[in-house]
Amino acid sequence: MKDRPLPPHTPAWHTLSPGEVEQTLHSGSGGLSTEEVARRLEEHGPNRLAPPKRRGPLLRLLLQFHNILLYVILGAAVIAALLGHWVDFGVLLAAAVINAIIGFIQEGKAEAALDAIRAMLSPHATVIRDGRRREIDAAELVPGDRVVLGSGDRVPADLRLVASRELRVEEAALTGESLPVEKSCGEAAKDAPLGDRFGMAYSGTLVVYGQATGIVVATGATTELGKINQMLKGIENLATPLLRQVDQFGRLLALAILGVSALTFVFGTLWRGHPAAEMFMMVVALAAAAIPEGLPAIMTVTLALGVQRMAQRNAIIRRLPAVETLGSVTVICSDKTGTLTRNEMTVQRVVCAEQVFTVGGAGYQPQGDFSLDGRAVDVEHYPPLSLAIRAGVLCNDARLHEEDGQWQVGGDPTEGALLVLGAKAGFSQHLAEAAWPRRDSIPFESQHRFMATWHHDSDGASWIFVKGAPERILEMCATQMGQDGEQALDVDHWRRMATDTAARGLRLLALACRHSGPQGSDLAFDDMNEGFSLLALVGIIDPPREEAIAAVDDCHRAGINVKMITGDHAETARAIGAQLAIGVGRPAVTGAEIAVMDDATLRQVVRSVDVFARASPEHKLRLVQAMQDDGEVVAMTGDGVNDAPALKRADVGVAMGLKGTEAAKESADMVLADDNFASIAAAVREGRAVYDNLKKFILFMLPTNGGEALVVIAAILFELTLPLTPAQVLWINMVTSCTLGLALAFEPAERAIMARRPRPPGQALLSGFFVWRVLMVSLLMMTGALGLFLWEMNNGGSVETARTLAVNAVVMAEMFYLLNSRSILASVLNREGLTGNHYVLLAIALCIPLQLAFTYAPFMQGIFGSTDLSAGDWLKVLGAGLLVFVVAELEKWVIRRTPLAARVAHG
Ligand code: ATP
Repeated sequence: MKDRPLPPHTPAWHTLSPGEVEQTLHSGSGGLSTEEVARRLEEHGPNRLAPPKRRGPLLRLLLQFHNILLYVILGAAVIAALLGHWVDFGVLLAAAVINAIIGFIQEGKAEAALDAIRAMLSPHATVIRDGRRREIDAAELVPGDRVVLGSGDRVPADLRLVASRELRVEEAALTGESLPVEKSCGEAAKDAPLGDRFGMAYSGTLVVYGQATGIVVATGATTELGKINQMLKGIENLATPLLRQVDQFGRLLALAILGVSALTFVFGTLWRGHPAAEMFMMVVALAAAAIPEGLPAIMTVTLALGVQRMAQRNAIIRRLPAVETLGSVTVICSDKTGTLTRNEMTVQRVVCAEQVFTVGGAGYQPQGDFSLDGRAVDVEHYPPLSLAIRAGVLCNDARLHEEDGQWQVGGDPTEGALLVLGAKAGFSQHLAEAAWPRRDSIPFESQHRFMATWHHDSDGASWIFVKGAPERILEMCATQMGQDGEQALDVDHWRRMATDTAARGLRLLALACRHSGPQGSDLAFDDMNEGFSLLALVGIIDPPREEAIAAVDDCHRAGINVKMITGDHAETARAIGAQLAIGVGRPAVTGAEIAVMDDATLRQVVRSVDVFARASPEHKLRLVQAMQDDGEVVAMTGDGVNDAPALKRADVGVAMGLKGTEAAKESADMVLADDNFASIAAAVREGRAVYDNLKKFILFMLPTNGGEALVVIAAILFELTLPLTPAQVLWINMVTSCTLGLALAFEPAERAIMARRPRPPGQALLSGFFVWRVLMVSLLMMTGALGLFLWEMNNGGSVETARTLAVNAVVMAEMFYLLNSRSILASVLNREGLTGNHYVLLAIALCIPLQLAFTYAPFMQGIFGSTDLSAGDWLKVLGAGLLVFVVAELEKWVIRRTPLAARVAHG
């Protein structure tokens, strides 16, 4: 098939028959060969759409100035220039430009971090190449590739379908029509509109039901989606409720500052009779002092760093507001299989009509004996057991293979366990399938809880095998298979055995068969209603993950309730729940029970019940709603296409990265790269840490501005010489926000972070405590700076020395206060508190040479009007710093001893 060129002109694929398409694209049932794929990839390029055009760097830089806080500074600069204050003009302008550059760089870094996370969510496709089914990056698809579609998949390229079973595709991305369209393999008329080309599945559309195989006919920009050049929605931009709150706060602050400045100006000139030009420079100093220029940029960085840390812990954030919501989650609803459990299944028990067999061995290693009452037995002596094992191997889409001495399962682990069971009994999947070829199948979907296959045996006779949830299979059976052949079904026996097996925490499957074929030419649901003979019940162990046990415990201590919502049997769910400390000693409620409850009853039930079994996606949706109505903030996991509504509805929808469908991932706020419950708990922890760090940063930043503003206001009120010039104020702001404040973005989660209750949602950031803390520290800063300024002036010192003292006092106080700020209430007077964040120490170390340069470097003295200080002066400066440090620690100590502490911890 190599080196045969593809047709130069693109045919109208929808008008060709599957056979013609296969021929044109030289793609047989085994798919393309690796070499051919490489050649075509070279020719056609990767299957990717061009990313949407980003703003150019210049525009992004200019947009940094589009911020009301910077407008005020630029306005002040212009007026300073008009008044001929060239140094102030230069410094104001420099402050605006430096801020914009820092914002530009930091925003770039945050965007790059998000880009890296977007790449982690790149779509995958299942293809058949070299005769083997494999999972690849969708970007590697080439025309001619055979793609296998299943429910929940996003179609990865334009496909001409060559086989399809009840395929239904939602094409809203392309046609705007949100009702799913039924697909087939038929040809369509040449001029049929996109929506009527039933034999095609287009890139970007969503499989909501069924299965199909299709051949790639167009990739990348040549797909229909590529032609309309529309990117599917990815991760949103950096905007979260908290950032918006801060933005709004910034605006209010700017307005307030402008208002106060104008009033001060009027007060000074009209009432006190100061010259307008002098008064104006005072007002500029005030405005410069009060504006926290660095705020927006550092908030963005903190958030981006949090998202990055979560990704390192396998929690990939798709929607940024989730970072904040995670911190206030009160209930986590989790699937069981694979999330709370290991998803490494081993059959331990096979219950037949007359015997109960125990199966030895662990994991996927196909070694282990069958025993009956403690004695090893030969499977061949027990025909029902033997037929049941055969049924399990044939009614199966998984594959068992050995790789580097390790046995591995490709496909569903439940089915893998049946293959291993078969191998232990000497049934090779390969030989079984050759002897009993499959004619058709009904794949497993969690809504109907069974899978069936139709085979021909060596005599050409038809058999249908079915496996699934025991309740479901029992409905289909009238007889059971005993040692001597078929007998009447003893429903009670099977029910008893099912409960007994499930109570041991084993997952249950029933196996049945019918020695006749379907009515029509295909296997249909109508063929599954009756006439089956029950072969056996299989009990499969799937132990809880160790780390999930620890994570559930963490959540409980953090005041977060963990609920298990599973498709599994109630008894199995309860037994596994008990091992994980979920719902211990309480009943499990089943989906069937939920279905008959009204909303009010359900709301009652969710308060006391933690295990929900045999639950379908609709039940999940109702459960989320009931909990939300009860005031809970809910994180909910899901993997199937039908889980999408519940994931969207949940406050934090969590999709599985490994076994989850594209549909679930796209509806989720967060994707777990390892499907592990422990990663959700880790993300909650990081979510709390991010919120803490944002609070800590604001609590650190605002008192600098507050302190400076108070100094200037005091000077105006008491008609003092200005203790801080506008240029000096801007210097302080730059040093404190760019070096010191940034360090808080790297603050690790506090040790006791998971010992607190969740933060009430929607809580305003600027609580009463915040205002108090900012005011208190502002006053302390003012006391230090103004105190030293007045002391120097009263002792006949120069105004330059007094101002240099004031500037250094504020910066020194900030250096100390940075240490205080590492925790909002806990003491930092310990090793961890003083040295736990290296960035804090580094930032302080960086600040020292900057201040020395400010004080001693001649060119700095030229710009800022600073002057040399003596050793004694430095001692005074140190005193101002210690004042803030000691009082702030004292205040924490007092608050920790009042009932206020619990409230403050959240606000
Ligand atoms: P969770 O929702 O916690 O992931 P689950 O994976 O057990 O739980 P489902 O996959 O919906 O839930 O399975 C429900 C039931 O369907 C199982 O208890 C089992 O009896 C049956 N079942 C599971 N997998 C298969 C399969 N491949 N073929 C046939 N029946 C299956």
